[in-house]
Amino acid sequence: MSFEALGLSPAILRALAEQGYDAPTPIQQAAIPLVLEGRDLLAGAQTGTGKTAAFTLPLLQRLFADAAPVGGKRRPRVLILTPTRELAAQIHENVRAYAKHLRVFATTIFGGVGMGPQIDALRRGVDILIATPGRLIDHLERRTVDVSGIEILVLDEADRMLDMGFLPQMKRVLNALPKQNRQTLLFSATFADQIKALAREFMRDPAEVQIAARNSVVATVTHRVHPVDASRKRDLLLELLSRDSRRQTLVFGRTKHGSDKLAKFLDQHGLRTAAIHGNKSQNARTRALADFKNGKITVLVATDIAARGIDIDQLPLVINFDLPMVAEDYVHRIGRTGRAGAEGLAVSLVSHDEARLLRDIRRLLKQDIAIENVEGFEPSSPLRLDGNGGGGQPKPNQAARKPNHARRPHAQGPKGQQPKPHAAANKQRSWRGGRDARKA
Ligand code: AMP
Repeated sequence: MSFEALGLSPAILRALAEQGYDAPTPIQQAAIPLVLEGRDLLAGAQTGTGKTAAFTLPLLQRLFADAAPVGGKRRPRVLILTPTRELAAQIHENVRAYAKHLRVFATTIFGGVGMGPQIDALRRGVDILIATPGRLIDHLERRTVDVSGIEILVLDEADRMLDMGFLPQMKRVLNALPKQNRQTLLFSATFADQIKALAREFMRDPAEVQIAARNSVVATVTHRVHPVDASRKRDLLLELLSRDSRRQTLVFGRTKHGSDKLAKFLDQHGLRTAAIHGNKSQNARTRALADFKNGKITVLVATDIAARGIDIDQLPLVINFDLPMVAEDYVHRIGRTGRAGAEGLAVSLVSHDEARLLRDIRRLLKQDIAIENVEGFEPSSPLRLDGNGGGGQPKPNQAARKPNHARRPHAQGPKGQQPKPHAAANKQRSWRGGRDARKA
C-alpha cells in the first residue's frame, strides 16, 4: 500500500517523500483510514511503529489540507497530550516535518521551562497544541489557553501517562474540552482496565486497531543478557562500550544519581557521555539529546522517564545497566532500537539480585533472550532463573543453560542441571522453546 492510496493530499505526500518514507507502516495503514472517516480510535501500538505519523497525518489531512487560510486569531483545533517533554518536542518535530507544505502552526507546552514564551505563542495563535498534562492544567487555571475550539484530541502513550500518575489531570483536561463532534484518538502500548474505562467514559464508539501483540517487542531486536556481579557492572559496561567506541549507545540506569555517576565514570574513561534524567534542566536535556543525535557524544545514560519516547533513528544498541523495576519498562526501553526495520541489539547486565526482575521480563516477553557470559566478567554465583527463588529444578519449557565459557567454574543453570553435551561452548541459550537466539 502507498501513502497515495490512503488519500493524503499532495502537500502531505511531498513532505513524506522528503522524509524518505516509502510506504505506510502497519499502524499507519490501519489507523489513517479510520481517522480520516472521523472515527474515534483506540490504537495499540508502541513507540517505533510509526504511531506519531499514524495520528498526525490524518489529522493534518482532515483539518488543514484543504483549508482556506484562517483570518484573525487562531484557536487550537488539535490537542495532543503526551507524557513527557521529550515526547512533546519530538511530536512537534514530526508535525513540523509533515506539515511543512501546509499553513499550520503548532506549539508545545510542557513544564520545566518558563510560562512566558508559551503564553506568547498561545496569544499569537496556534492550530495544534502539543502538551504534557501538568503544564496544560497550569495554563487552563491561568486561562492562558483556550481549548474550546479543540476538534481532535490525541492521547499519546496513554498507558504511560497513567503510570506517571496523570489520570486526574487527564480527566480534568477531558472535561474542559468540547464534547460535541470531538474526535478522540488514544494510543497506548498496553490496555489496562483503567485505559478501557477512560475510553468508555470519554470516547464515542471507538474503532480498535492493535498492531503488535500486547507487550510484544519489535521483531528486529536481538536480546542478550550478560550475567555479572553487581560490583563489576561498571567495568563490564566500559569493556562493552570500548569494543566499539563510535557506536551510538543508549544506556539505561535506574536512578538519577546512579545515572550521573555512571556517565561521569564513562566520561573519565574516554567515552563521550552525557546523562539525562528528571533532575536535569530542560536545556541540559535538550542539549544532551541533540549532542547524542548529532554524534558529539556517543553514550547517553538515561533513566526510564527521561528516555520515554526518545526517537533516535536506527539506534543500534541499547544497554540496560540496571534492569527496570517494572517489566513493561523493558519493552519501552528497547523500543529505542531496531526501529522502522533496522536491526537492533538490547543488552542487559544482570546481577544476582535482579534475577526476579529478569524472570518478570521473561514472562512478559514472547521472544528469546540469549544468556551469555563475558569472559573475565563471569558472576561469582549463577543467576537463578528457575522461578522459585533458587536451586530448584528447571521448568519443562525452560531451555537448559550451561556453562557458556569453558573455563568458568559455575554453571548458569539451576543447581544440578547438566550442560547438554551437543551444545557448543560459549554459545548463548534461548529462554523459550530452546531455539538458539540470533547473534548480532
Ligand atoms: P514513532 O513510532 O512515531 O516513534 O516512529 C518511529 C520512527 O519511524 C520515527 O523515526 C519516524 O520518523 C519513522 N517513521 C514513521 N513512519 C514511517 C514510514 N512510513 N516509513 C519510514 N519511517 C517511518
